Amino acid sequence: MATLMSDMLRLRLWGNWAIIALLNPLSMLSMMVTKDVKIFLETGLHFSIHPSIPCLDNSAGFELSSDRYGARLCDMLDYYLRNRQKIKISSLDQLCQAVASGSGRVCTFQDCFGMFLVIDPVGDIYSCHRLAGRPEYRLGSIDDKPSLRRLSESAAAQMFTRREATISETCRECNHNAYCKGGCPYNTWAGNGDATAPDPYCEAYRTVFDHIRQRLDEEMSSEENIEAIAMKGLAEDGHPLMRIGPLTELTREHSRPFQTARTAKAIVAAVELARHGDVPATALRLHSMGISRTRESGEASLRGLMEQMHVSAALNNISVFDKTFFLS
Ligand code: SF4
Ligand code: SF4
Repeated sequence: MATLMSDMLRLRLWGNWAIIALLNPLSMLSMMVTKDVKIFLETGLHFSIHPSIPCLDNSAGFELSSDRYGARLCDMLDYYLRNRQKIKISSLDQLCQAVASGSGRVCTFQDCFGMFLVIDPVGDIYSCHRLAGRPEYRLGSIDDKPSLRRLSESAAAQMFTRREATISETCRECNHNAYCKGGCPYNTWAGNGDATAPDPYCEAYRTVFDHIRQRLDEEMSSEENIEAIAMKGLAEDGHPLMRIGPLTELTREHSRPFQTARTAKAIVAAVELARHGDVPATALRLHSMGISRTRESGEASLRGLMEQMHVSAALNNISVFDKTFFLS
């Protein structure tokens, strides 16, 4: 665990990285999920949550049941809402944004056929990396220089089209159809025998979407929100009728609670550093203000900040803090 943590911490020095926390029955049983989330919280590393799903032709026994996945998503969302200024869980952001905007944010919740083309090492073409290497899902080969039209006429493409047509009927009465779209075709094909059925995680999606909608309804009708709309008008980022509230913050695409809190901390730290002039005194002050978790972590962050200030030509640009300043 210590090696894993130090590797994860090193990730913060790189601009582009992503961590996927995979939920499987083992992690659910041992409650490792909650423990792991605390580790993410302490280190300030972002992540997203995915369920462990079966392979196309067999089950390794590690897949998560739909009811447990739905319950865990709701628990994690409540946890995230309480800690949204310290961490970012992108898959939960996407679910909240989908409900608020009425359209899915990731391929799982859209008609995905045509969103991607995947070419495997031998030149075969597929519509998803999860299907690569399986002849029954092959759309064509680059050797044949196929047109998009020809790819869309392949037998594999017809499987997608048939499923989409059936799903639009099966899920027609569902309140969440606009931003769920029956879920992921791969999950359907891996999870049960009916090739045109909705995603086997339907129950999980329904549970978490219901949970999000209920909380959004509560926030939308709260006195604070109504007052804020009366004072400032309709919101421009996210749903126009949602101005104030923890979940409302997650539905905004352009301002993340975590980022806002980090930038505010960085500004306070820079002001305190300018005022005190030396790192240990400033670190002590930041710790007493509750801005850094420990005096030592504050000192480490301030030294990183000073180092950057000496090499950066853009001192007055707050974006300099984005990748280099990690108060925790
Ligand atoms: S099959 Fe599933 S994972 Fe693949 S593109 Fe479609 S929704 Fe995404
Ligand atoms: S939640 Fe279930 S029923 Fe509703 S759209 Fe998604 S897969 Fe279909």
